Amino acid sequence: MPELPEVETVRRRLAPGLEGRLFVRVEIGDGRLVRPYEPEAVAAELVGERVSAVERRGKYLIFRFETGRALLIHLRMTGSLRHAPGGSLEDDPHRRAVVRLDDGSDVAYRDVRRFGTWLLLEPGELDGYIAARLGPEPLLPSFTAKVLGSLLAKRKAPLKSVLLDQKAIAGLGNIYVDEALWRSELHPRRPAGELDAKELSRLHRNIRRVLELGLARQGATLRDYATPDGGSGSMQHEFKVYGRSGEPCPRCGTPIERSVLGGRGTWTCPSCQRLP
Ligand SMILES: [Zn+2]
Repeated sequence: MPELPEVETVRRRLAPGLEGRLFVRVEIGDGRLVRPYEPEAVAAELVGERVSAVERRGKYLIFRFETGRALLIHLRMTGSLRHAPGGSLEDDPHRRAVVRLDDGSDVAYRDVRRFGTWLLLEPGELDGYIAARLGPEPLLPSFTAKVLGSLLAKRKAPLKSVLLDQKAIAGLGNIYVDEALWRSELHPRRPAGELDAKELSRLHRNIRRVLELGLARQGATLRDYATPDGGSGSMQHEFKVYGRSGEPCPRCGTPIERSVLGGRGTWTCPSCQRLP
């Protein structure tokens, strides 16, 4: 599933080609993408909108239009966007929508498992929608160790579950949480509110480090994630624990173990990440 670094990489690649462009034709071929609305109705509403900015909040991609409306795209498990010169897109059975821009290029949305969503918001609706669903952005300067501490304080839930909660912190998912916890030598089942000041500062630093590394590597390509020009990310080569069951911990050599926490596969080093 694309997390903050993957979605931000998509945003950075898409923005220069989309900002200022008009949607001249929109085809939405899958009702699931826009439900409960009708795909033809949403497509018709989008025609004639001009993009003023391509932004990101958490794992949402936001196309802002000059009218004040916004298209909120969530890629979920397997969604991806491709921006290509007109007529150059190859046939794709998993394509769910295509937008033709006024420079003749196409933005195509592909989604194998079809969990992704497109939601058109009217002027004034975006801020409230986001505020109800997302906590702070972990890469902003305002996200300090103190802020992290206040988000975790008094929470008895496992540390990993709180870090995955988008209402607590926006943009983290299974990969970057497992990597940040390993780097911080913290057990994912630690009650979130129990961390001391040193542990909080370590976790804060490592959350930012793994996200920044993910951005520098243009995200992690495991199966479906691709950049808008069809390229791959390379963050998967930087994983220290994620998906590495049985391989030696890069810090101490103990075999990495996989467990399940909150229904999610969870990779840890049993020596470096202990419950007190
Ligand atoms: Zn270890």
